[in-house]
Amino acid sequence: MPHDSTTIAAISPLLISVVVPAYNEEEVLLEFHRRLTEVFNPLPYTLEVVYVNDGSSDKTVSVISDLISRDPRVALVDLSRNFGKEIAMTAGLDYASGDAVVVIDVDLQDPPELIPELIRHWQEGADVVYAKRTLREGETWLKKFTSAAFYRLIRRVSRVQIPADTGDFRLLSRRAMDGLGGLREQHRFMKGLFAWIGYRQVAVPYRRDPRFAGETKWNYWKLWNFALDGITSFTTAPLKIATYLGLTVSLAAFIYAAIIIYKTLAFGDEVRGYPSLMVVVLFLGGVQLAALGVIGEYLGRMFDETKNRPLYLLNKLVPAQTRKDTSARTAPTSSRLEASSEISS
Ligand code: UDP
Ligand code: MG
Repeated sequence: MPHDSTTIAAISPLLISVVVPAYNEEEVLLEFHRRLTEVFNPLPYTLEVVYVNDGSSDKTVSVISDLISRDPRVALVDLSRNFGKEIAMTAGLDYASGDAVVVIDVDLQDPPELIPELIRHWQEGADVVYAKRTLREGETWLKKFTSAAFYRLIRRVSRVQIPADTGDFRLLSRRAMDGLGGLREQHRFMKGLFAWIGYRQVAVPYRRDPRFAGETKWNYWKLWNFALDGITSFTTAPLKIATYLGLTVSLAAFIYAAIIIYKTLAFGDEVRGYPSLMVVVLFLGGVQLAALGVIGEYLGRMFDETKNRPLYLLNKLVPAQTRKDTSARTAPTSSRLEASSEISS
């Protein structure tokens, strides 16, 4: 594949960091690393692979340690427990020292063979190059349907345009990474944050393969919470729904009350009306609870943000030998990491 940068790269090769969150992925790690390095061998770039161990309970860490002893381009960011994929990615991005960074799943659903294509768009001036899936193999229709509905909804209610059918598989330029590094919120809906930073964003279509081995770490309960995070961190529209719903119901109740008063005045008082009374009380109670629930969602998130906790803690950090010295370039990022870790080499 021809590259405009070949001549420049010969003088000072650009460094591409690949950030790979891994949670109980001992079965796929080696195959992933083999395919990734195969892709990078012919490319005129230096590689840094940042594996983030997200508190795995299987042999993931020892498999990565093995890789480190054989391949100097591998780094390990070992989180102190399972923090979830969004935070694992953030830890890897904080640590990555490359001129550009690629975020990719370890389960080979995102083909590493697409990376040269992502790099090509970056070399042509894009800051964010995201892979857009055209086909999703090995996923149920229910997952595809709920996912499509979610993206349609969030695009309508949010001012940030979050592209549909994209995962976290993407490439970020250095300035996009630095921009993202400044967003330290606790509820991290990464797809939204990637879109929030703006800059020039380009989509590259690809086929999403089924998982190579192991099982998905998502279930519907986790996905539901993920969707809630996405919506509440990118729009306050649900707060408005509660307001309008409340107003509409109150108006209806007011009209209904007027009718009842008129009837009572015109035809006298009867001791009936118990059912309608119950209906009104229950209905209003329900609406109030729903509105309170929505407020609670936001309040809970504000509570989490005001605690201002660090996003993660590190257990161990093993840098790759291809790492660039970033202390001058990204002081805030590296000091964040160093503050919460001990660096071992
Ligand atoms: N992952 C993680 N922490 C978690 C769950 C998942 O780092 O708590 C990683 C996982 O190892 C994989 C990626 O996130 O590299 C995607 O996970 P998975 O394949 O389970 O998600 P799916 O592809 O089904 O959306
Ligand atoms: Mg997967």
